[in-house]
Amino acid sequence: MYRIGFGNDIHRLETGVKLILGGVEIESDLGAVGHSDADALLHAVTDAILGALALGDIGAHFSDKNERWKNADSLIFLREAVLLMKEKGFAVVNLDSVINLEIPKLCPHINRMRENLARVLEIEIECVSVKAKTGEQVDAVGKRQAIKTEAVILLEKKS
Ligand code: MG
Repeated sequence: MYRIGFGNDIHRLETGVKLILGGVEIESDLGAVGHSDADALLHAVTDAILGALALGDIGAHFSDKNERWKNADSLIFLREAVLLMKEKGFAVVNLDSVINLEIPKLCPHINRMRENLARVLEIEIECVSVKAKTGEQVDAVGKRQAIKTEAVILLEKKS
């Protein structure tokens, strides 16, 4: 049996905070604001897994009201979602994702993000896609006010 899941995320961009995507710290004048480390890619992927299993959303599992998750490494959230997935007998088939960010260009960092995701999702890097798009200078992304992400994941139940 297959299950498909979708997740997305948005974080405000500001000066003086880090920009972390897919567990990779990226040099940037603007960083993402959030309760945790604000890793918008990992949040979208975590939500996609939870969505595939109809287990609610990332906020239900890791509330931004909980001090425990303040500045938390978002890999913790993803690892927990993977654990829940495995408990239900599922494994990841493949992941596709998009990061919408105006600046900086992400190509030099994409493979490290894919490696991090492949390791936690327990799949080959060939099954992990991370794509990057700009906002063409329009909308919140294009005006460098926000970073947005989207992720689709396919899970398969192992018999
Ligand atoms: Mg988020």
